[in-house]
Amino acid sequence: MSVEAPAVAPPRVLTIAGSDSGGGAGIQADLKTMLALGVHGMSVLTAVTAQNSLGVQGYWELPAEAVRAQFRSVVDDIGVQAVKTGMLASIELVETVAELLSDVRAPIVVDPVGVSKHGDALLAAEAVATVRESLLPLATLATPNLHEVAQLTGITVLEEGEMRPAADALLELGPRWVLVKGGHLSGAAADLLAGRDGEEYWFRAPRHDNRHTHGTGCTLASAIAAELAKGRELPQAVGAAKEYITGAIRAGFALGAGIGPVDHGW
Ligand code: PLP
Repeated sequence: MSVEAPAVAPPRVLTIAGSDSGGGAGIQADLKTMLALGVHGMSVLTAVTAQNSLGVQGYWELPAEAVRAQFRSVVDDIGVQAVKTGMLASIELVETVAELLSDVRAPIVVDPVGVSKHGDALLAAEAVATVRESLLPLATLATPNLHEVAQLTGITVLEEGEMRPAADALLELGPRWVLVKGGHLSGAAADLLAGRDGEEYWFRAPRHDNRHTHGTGCTLASAIAAELAKGRELPQAVGAAKEYITGAIRAGFALGAGIGPVDHGW
């Protein structure tokens, strides 16, 4: 039997992020999501974490030169139809990535990763200002959770009614759209998508009593990037990605002694 290559290549999506040795978050979650959603996933690795279900035991950044070289290899030959950024670790890497992305015309989804669910820092505290000033203005969409909202804007959101002013403060930092993820509030998981032209969309999903949610942020941002690469408009891409992450959380499973990953095979 001969196997022929498909005539048309799938949409190409690039993740610029860190590796999770436990396979639940980071680059591993990104590539699994992209495979599940039918796009070709590519990666620029920024850092290597030693990580499992109990937390992050350590991480090592790659040199800026290695980040630059990976990016040029991918973009100059293969090209990208959407980009997603995740763990960027340091001021130097945030600056490097911002400089590389300034020429990209494809949609850019910035997941402003700060700390893991276990409370381990994945971004140096002094690099938050660089994310705010250099990276967010380049974002088509930024996808902070409430902890990252507080880091970036100083606004603490304690209830759903406080999400809109937080979104406005984030939009002032320059992204075209912002998705404020309310998953850490009690009740149904509500996310607010707000746009610079006054757009407002709410996405709600029933809360699943499943503690195995490692990798949710990475997965959601990658799913949005994948849907954008397929040509969906941004609100529709977020809607489809929200459906994907809701299924993946429902199917999250125990692994190791701590918090297991969301599942991509549901
Ligand atoms: N490890 C890496 C490399 C990540 O990029 C992230 C999140 O972006 C995490 C860990 C944290 O994942 P979680 O907060 O879902 O545990």
